Amino acid sequence: MKQITTHSEAETAAEGRALGSTLSAGDVVLLYGDLGAGKTAFVRGLAEGLGVHPAEVSSPTFTIVQEYRGGRLTLFHVDLYRLNDPREVDDLGLDEITADGVLAIEWAEKLRSPRGDAIIVRLEHAGPDARNLTIQLPDYPISQLPNPHPPHSDL
Ligand code: ADP
Ligand code: MG
Repeated sequence: MKQITTHSEAETAAEGRALGSTLSAGDVVLLYGDLGAGKTAFVRGLAEGLGVHPAEVSSPTFTIVQEYRGGRLTLFHVDLYRLNDPREVDDLGLDEITADGVLAIEWAEKLRSPRGDAIIVRLEHAGPDARNLTIQLPDYPISQLPNPHPPHSDL
C-alpha cells in the first residue's frame, strides 16, 4: 500500500501517471473520495501513463462511460456520481467492457459488490491544495487471472 500527500493537481496526476504505466489489460481501478478530492485529476494522469492524451479526460457530464483510445491500452472511464439506483450500475455491464482495456471508476462507493481484485485508490482532502492518496494493489491483479471476469460482482 502506498500513501502519499500531494500538494497540487499536477502532483496527483503524476501519481496516476505512475500507476497507469504499470497497468495491464483487464485491470480495474476503483476511485473513492469526495467531490473535488482529485479523482478525475488522477484518472487524467492514468490516461497519460497509458499513452492516451490526457486533455481528452474530463468529468463525464452526460455519458457515464467514456472511452479513450490511442494509447497502449484503451481506457474506460466511468463516473457513478449521478447514479442512485444500484440497478443502473448493473445495467452498465461493466464486467464485459474491460477485457481489452483498463477500467477506472469514480465514486466506487456506489458499487454494491466491488470486486476484491481491483486496485483501490482513496483520495481525501487534507487542506485547500493538499490531498492524501492511498493506493492499494491487490494481491492477485485481475490481469493475471485466467478468467478476468467472474460472474458475481458489479464489475
Ligand atoms: P473529483 O473528480 O474527485 O471530483 P477533480 O479532479 O475533478 O475531483 O477536481 C479536483 C479539484 O481540486 C481541481 O479543481 C483541482 O485543481 C483541485 N486540487 C487542488 N489541490 C489538488 C491536489 N493536491 N490534487 C488534486 N486536485 C487538487
Ligand atoms: Mg470527477
